[in-house]
Amino acid sequence: FNKTDCVLCGQCTVVCPVGALVEKDDTNRVLEAVFNPHKVVIVQTAPSVRVALGDAFGLPDGSIVTKKMVSALRMIGFDKVFDTNYGADLTITEEAEELIDRLKNNKKMPMTTSCCPAWVNFMEKHYPDEIAHLSSTKSPMSIFSAVAKTQYAKQENIAPENIFSVAIMPCIAKKYEAKRPELGRGGIADTDAVITTRGLIKLIKYIGIDFCNLPESEFDNPMGESTGAGAIFGATGGVMEAALRTAYEWMTGGKPMPTLEYLPVRGFDGIKEAQVEIAGHTLKIAVVHTLKNAAFIMDKIRSGQCEYDFIEVMACPGGCVGGGGQPVTTTFAVTKKRMKALYMIDRNSKLRKSHENPYLKKLYAEFLEKPGSEKAHQLLHTHYHAREKEFDFSK
Ligand code: SF4
Repeated sequence: FNKTDCVLCGQCTVVCPVGALVEKDDTNRVLEAVFNPHKVVIVQTAPSVRVALGDAFGLPDGSIVTKKMVSALRMIGFDKVFDTNYGADLTITEEAEELIDRLKNNKKMPMTTSCCPAWVNFMEKHYPDEIAHLSSTKSPMSIFSAVAKTQYAKQENIAPENIFSVAIMPCIAKKYEAKRPELGRGGIADTDAVITTRGLIKLIKYIGIDFCNLPESEFDNPMGESTGAGAIFGATGGVMEAALRTAYEWMTGGKPMPTLEYLPVRGFDGIKEAQVEIAGHTLKIAVVHTLKNAAFIMDKIRSGQCEYDFIEVMACPGGCVGGGGQPVTTTFAVTKKRMKALYMIDRNSKLRKSHENPYLKKLYAEFLEKPGSEKAHQLLHTHYHAREKEFDFSK
């Protein structure tokens, strides 16, 4: 067990030999809200939950159970069932715009992704002097919840304090992210509760839902619509691939990437590197998973030996498909099947580029003006700060 694997990545519940470290269960709070007639309870589900949930009900590993999952959530009593993939599309749109802005205006490079809270926490504690590398764009979960409690609340004429926003995540660190004071407004958190995939499995079993025989149903809209780019977020390399699809098109004045499926960033290698030629510029990229590999890259950045422009970091092995909140029976073989399933969802999607999501276009046209606008920055971006570290790796 390596200490660098233990910075709120959720792996503790998998490796703790006596089970003394357990996740905080918010199910009771969620059920209280569901039964409260004064609350509108909305739920969002992360990309990698839909390819892990079926394992627990005897379906083959990596089964895609999106539509049964939506039915189960409706049976539990959620008023609206939305998709974190919509938030992922929004994250990509803002992050691609941010990358282009940093490149054009000689701002701090390389830019690193910031959608993994265990990675953000690690950076704040162990590389506080390098925080400016983190993208200011909020994670899909937090960007979704920010829109839900502002634009969606306004559109549906619901007071934001009467919306209870639940996130089903493959991740324990998301529980900590939801509590960050900057991710809310006026003392009201944007995300009220986080339930892990494991927690949802327990809840479905507790209620006695016959998951395998559930009818299939669709997400609610507007925040249930997403593209294939949003789906691949759950696999290591997915955020990078999704961001490239949008950034490439914007930097070339509308020319799509020659190959939408960008294979150099896919797969299980701990550190993947590539160079992408875009409009006369060579974009140097890297994709890393596990915090051990992230520390290796950050040491290079700190010592000035890093020439990358854009780096994706995910704390869990394989990305969120192998997250700390997924069923504990997860092995590398299972993680790979889930990854494959996410790429299948992308391949079968009608729209595969985040900026083409029609509900995003509407959101920008009616509310946020354009990606990277002042309004978009107020709502969809955040900031980070140095924190005290629990471990000193030098000892
Ligand atoms: Fe959570 Fe995904 Fe990061 Fe793991 S990789 S800590 S599951 S966000």
